[in-house]
Amino acid sequence: MEYYSKEISSLIEELGRLPGIGAKTAQRLAFHILHMPKDDVERLSHTLTQARQNVHYCKECFTLTDQDICPICANAKRDHKQIMVVEDTRDLAAYEKTGKYEGVYHVLHGAISPMQGIGPDDIKLKELMARIAKEDIEELIIATNSSLEGETTAMYISRLVKPTGVKVSRIASGVPVGGDLENIDEVTLLRALEGRTEL
Ligand code: ZN
Repeated sequence: MEYYSKEISSLIEELGRLPGIGAKTAQRLAFHILHMPKDDVERLSHTLTQARQNVHYCKECFTLTDQDICPICANAKRDHKQIMVVEDTRDLAAYEKTGKYEGVYHVLHGAISPMQGIGPDDIKLKELMARIAKEDIEELIIATNSSLEGETTAMYISRLVKPTGVKVSRIASGVPVGGDLENIDEVTLLRALEGRTEL
């Protein structure tokens, strides 16, 4: 990329590190940014830095939030005896969009994948077990993706939690295999939730 000056090249390079951004898109974004009003660029960079600095895990459910306890966990009207286990914050958002789920969540931040060397200790599983031990939980709804990793994780959690006497259920597989929860429409998500079966 010698035909661009150093600063332009490094801007393109940084943008190209982002997931889903190929070389062409990185170039287009870089030139877009270079033509933006300086104030807008400053606001963008400020927003990036602030978000990265202030967003962390909720102390209860481990979703990403800028508060100590996220608004869902802090809401006394939610059913705190029902926990839905999801892989990431985007999956939580997908269920929240349906507006029909009244329990709380637990975000694992990943799924068990022996192929990729991701074990039970690499996701927020110990934290889930700690919640089950500490809180009065009636049902755990496992809503991990229906990929191989998601299923493996669901089975692992089920085996771990069963002896505690907490009811463990799995959302119905109306969700296509390998499908990311965030890409699935709300009707399918609700159907999967309503059709959940006990493990
Ligand atoms: Zn929370």
